[in-house]
Amino acid sequence: MRRKKIRKVLIANRGEIATRIIRACKELGIKTVAIYSEADSKGLWLKKADEAYMIPGDPIKAYLNFYKIVDLAKNTGADAIHPGYGFLAENADFARYCQKRGIIFIGPKPEHIELFGDKIKSKIAMREVGVPVLPGTDEPITDLEEAKKFAKKIGFPVIIKAAYGGGGRGMRIVKKEEDFEELFKSATSEAEKFFGNGAVFIEKYVENPRHIEIQVIADKYGNVVHLGERDCSIQRRHQKVIEIAPSPTLSEKVRRELYRVAVKSMFKLGYESVGTLEFLVDENDNFYFIEMNTRIQVEHPVTEMITGIDIMQRMIEIAEGKKLPFLQEEIQMRGYSIEFRINAEDPTKNFAPSPGRITSYHSPGGPGVRIDAAVYKDYIIPPYYDPMIAKLIVWALNWEQVVNRAQRSLDEFIVRGTPTNLALLRHIVRDKDFREGRFTTSYLDEKLPKFK
Ligand code: ADP
Repeated sequence: MRRKKIRKVLIANRGEIATRIIRACKELGIKTVAIYSEADSKGLWLKKADEAYMIPGDPIKAYLNFYKIVDLAKNTGADAIHPGYGFLAENADFARYCQKRGIIFIGPKPEHIELFGDKIKSKIAMREVGVPVLPGTDEPITDLEEAKKFAKKIGFPVIIKAAYGGGGRGMRIVKKEEDFEELFKSATSEAEKFFGNGAVFIEKYVENPRHIEIQVIADKYGNVVHLGERDCSIQRRHQKVIEIAPSPTLSEKVRRELYRVAVKSMFKLGYESVGTLEFLVDENDNFYFIEMNTRIQVEHPVTEMITGIDIMQRMIEIAEGKKLPFLQEEIQMRGYSIEFRINAEDPTKNFAPSPGRITSYHSPGGPGVRIDAAVYKDYIIPPYYDPMIAKLIVWALNWEQVVNRAQRSLDEFIVRGTPTNLALLRHIVRDKDFREGRFTTSYLDEKLPKFK
């Protein structure tokens, strides 16, 4: 195996994750090159990197233009590119292009990015290596009658999902047959609009599940370990808002079984780098794989807090050909950690993104508090990107303490000038059901009207 020490990394991303990557590199003694769009010339990460270059033109295409990005890596003498999450992170063609140009892509092999980018193929692949999946169509569907026939066969409720989608877009829950046609049509047109492909698939809908995901990490030599689970059941419209490690509600039996299938399947598939296997756990403790993310995730810090392992740094070292520095039995998990996504969203406008100038900013601190953010007083949040402006991550020895710490940290947090979801998060940590661990993926959408 060819080993090449990484000396300089180009960060093909923006915002808090660009900062997170720069921090990881600095601690490893690696130089960093930042990129930014014209709209991002006031970004905090530019100042933290050793070098920063603007990619002119469209604010979103700047982070997607892979020829320019790889040229820049070449011209600045970077030997690797870290894609972060979103943008090019799960683009197999980009990973291949980096390889072709002699640049290390910090992430999994292109074939795995490709496989798991296809929700149907990845379900089939996982089923073949012994991982439970939900009954669903094995092919993308565009025909209404065919889709309806299948839905009737597996029985309602079903969920319609965009075959090549994500971010909760193109997803519809169908409770009864008479609603199928209308929801199928709206799902396919939304999939067409957002992903340029209207193909969908049908899957059995699980009522009141918990979203439990397993963090895995694997090197180039077949060593695969898991770093425990995260409970991401607190969602708004199928989008994560709060993530917790470990899950305060998972039984030991299910937990062990999830760990076992996660490690076994990744070993069998020859996966390398970091990755997350997402599962739904139903009310009877059955679990089903729904998808895998072949990238560093937004919520990776909660796992870092309970394991003490820097996932970002290990991801970089794996890409340069280092062996995993720990065995499964050496990994210890301690306490609880919760992450809160602070979004610039307007609660009075159905949580629509609310870009604009931050006139006052104060982030919490003190014991067990970590902030991964990229904003400051007088920063103008651009309208073109994800509305997440900061992540508050807290840690404590037990569940009660971590929720109390979350409450006082959220109370300390000041963001003024533009609306945020902070008030909503403060409601959640005070809610009895949340505090007592009674929550599923339906929790937030059901509670929302009461949290006003
Ligand atoms: P996306 O990639 O668009 O985020 P996912 O497949 O990861 O979509 O699902 C996101 C969320 O949607 C899950 O966490 C869960 O809340 C809900 N969901 C997805 N599939 C199902 C299902 N079969 N039954 C019930 N809920 C589901």
